[in-house]
Amino acid sequence: MPTLKKVAAILNPPAPHMVGDGFRVHNFFPSGHKIKMDPFYLLDYNAKIEFSPTNKLRGVGVHPHRGFETVTIAYHGAVAHHDSAGNSGVIYPGDVQWMTAASGILHKEYHEEEFSKKGGLFQMVQLWVNLPAKDKMSTPKYQALPNEGMSKYNLPNGNGVVEIIAGEYNGTKGSASTFTPIELYNLKLQAGAKVSLNTPANYNTAMIVIEGAIIVNGTEKASVNQMVHFAHEGTDIAIEASENSVVLFLSGEPINEPIAQYGPFLMNKPEELQQAIEDYNTGKFGYLEE
Ligand code: MN
Repeated sequence: MPTLKKVAAILNPPAPHMVGDGFRVHNFFPSGHKIKMDPFYLLDYNAKIEFSPTNKLRGVGVHPHRGFETVTIAYHGAVAHHDSAGNSGVIYPGDVQWMTAASGILHKEYHEEEFSKKGGLFQMVQLWVNLPAKDKMSTPKYQALPNEGMSKYNLPNGNGVVEIIAGEYNGTKGSASTFTPIELYNLKLQAGAKVSLNTPANYNTAMIVIEGAIIVNGTEKASVNQMVHFAHEGTDIAIEASENSVVLFLSGEPINEPIAQYGPFLMNKPEELQQAIEDYNTGKFGYLEE
């Protein structure tokens, strides 16, 4: 018998901090709120802010990653990415970039040049998706997921669209390939739209209200910049948009392996972190121009 998935908490965005000079982020987890979201390790949410025009490129310079994937989802503004595996790309509103750091890459993340010159609204999510031990040292890869090619499910009666970044919604498969089962959608809903989702009870599940306001399971209200965190009880989620809304939904099967983390490295054991630091210091992550 399907039952409603219990809401554990409606979480406010923690106080923001700057990542480089280009990203003003609220860390929902693991620092901001101590919630279990395995296989998702970190979620930085750049709530909507206005950047002034500049000739300087704001962002984060060359830095390494190993052992996981970074997924960047754009809502406003534009971000350019370059990495030592030779991949690069710009993401605009509606686009997603799925970078598998795995055995190790260097990359840099900056506001795109034309956006920087004009300035304007900026809103992004960056999610760190952990990899199981057997895949942590696999070859790095890059999936550009532009909005025009994104898997979409149109809701009936013009109620909006579910953009399926990963996983499957109502028989429509998501655009990204993933190492472990993950459901990641953007729900773009008209005021009054009702939509139902279902996800296994044991998955770790949350939603962020990117725009607007929603009612979850008939009673729980969440508004812009809040996160709805679900308990491991029940499978079905009912969402009603109180106004035109955008909701990021994430749900994943836990990997349930030990975690050792240091800065940009996410491994299973402390000695693997030592190895990552040594490999980085001896140039084994490749080269990328500043
Ligand atoms: Mn990075």
